[in-house]
Amino acid sequence: KKILLCFGTRPEAIKMASLVHELKTSNQFEIKVAVTAQHRQMLDQVLDFFEIVPDYDLDIMKENQSLNELCGRIFMKIDSVLQDYNPDLVLVHGDTTTSAVCAWAAFHRNIKVGHIEAGLRTFDKCSPFPEEVNRQITGRIADFHFAPTSISSQNLLAEKINPHNILITGNTVIDSLLWTKNKLDHNFGNLRIKELKQKLDFTKKIILVTGHRRENFGDGFLNICNALIKIAENSEVEIVYPVHLNPNVQMPILKLLSGISNIHLIDPLDYPTFVWMMSNSYFIITDSGGVQEEAPSLGKPVLVMRNTTERPEAVDAGTVILVGTDSQKIVAASEKLLNNEVEYNKMKQTHNPYGDGQASPRIRKFLENII
Ligand code: UDP
Repeated sequence: KKILLCFGTRPEAIKMASLVHELKTSNQFEIKVAVTAQHRQMLDQVLDFFEIVPDYDLDIMKENQSLNELCGRIFMKIDSVLQDYNPDLVLVHGDTTTSAVCAWAAFHRNIKVGHIEAGLRTFDKCSPFPEEVNRQITGRIADFHFAPTSISSQNLLAEKINPHNILITGNTVIDSLLWTKNKLDHNFGNLRIKELKQKLDFTKKIILVTGHRRENFGDGFLNICNALIKIAENSEVEIVYPVHLNPNVQMPILKLLSGISNIHLIDPLDYPTFVWMMSNSYFIITDSGGVQEEAPSLGKPVLVMRNTTERPEAVDAGTVILVGTDSQKIVAASEKLLNNEVEYNKMKQTHNPYGDGQASPRIRKFLENII
């Protein structure tokens, strides 16, 4: 049977990497990979590290492209791939424009679709931010739903998805994370890690920050910057911020945070360096979905700069707190973690509700039986 995995952004690539390798171990499947390259540079970093060479590289990005143009280009280009390869199954991931459009294109050609990281929901069609609609569209189309947790599975059951087509797998990001951590534990070193070792003062408490969500563009990022300026007044703290390449993120951050001695604005990190940085941080402030899922495995508390989350499991487990983009809330929660060891230790548990690192083998076994 022929399987085509389609993805385009950094987080999708990280989460699909372990699955690509796992599916290739099966003698029942022929595997090909198509990338849309929705995040060109950051995607390539991940492909290099996981040694994945795409069979089809659609390279769809153009400057200032609207979401509709993006959808149109993905539809056109993925259709040629579907025609050329004619797979039995297309696997897509999560909530990106790439996922929704590739699933839809496969449906039009009567090709079965499997959805990895299925069933996450915020239930707010928060126009014009496409994630919730993308994941719902993909969920309507998919034949097989690989839900990371029982909460995501329940969301699908509530939408009347046939329970036989849902498998609770854990999140494949934990497979990729543990594989990477193992490499780091075996003395994998690279230039970026060496550079950071020289740059940062590890006798201080390191706060790792990432942010990229469209919903935080504008006022959200201004508030985040103001909070970080306030937190950096504490000279016992070092803030490390790998700044996302999206200009809407870069502009306010570089403008407001440059020149503060204990705020280190750096380029996005390659995946192993980022995992190393998470492991060596005191806590993390982020609006990223993947980072919320990874951090509990490394025992790191996370403050999430969003008002809602489609990932309630870690909030329930107490390792994540939603602080939104209110400066005062971000500062207050950070100070609590910095100054109150009891509170800090409560959030520092290492049980991870998002998985045990075996999601990809579960998906492989399910597919071996069903297609
Ligand atoms: N990540 C990375 N380098 C960085 C920042 C993040 O490799 O400089 C990884 C991180 O470990 C996680 C993923 O990228 O696996 C998260 O990507 P992002 O925050 O862009 O997207 P989201 O998870 O919110 O969809």
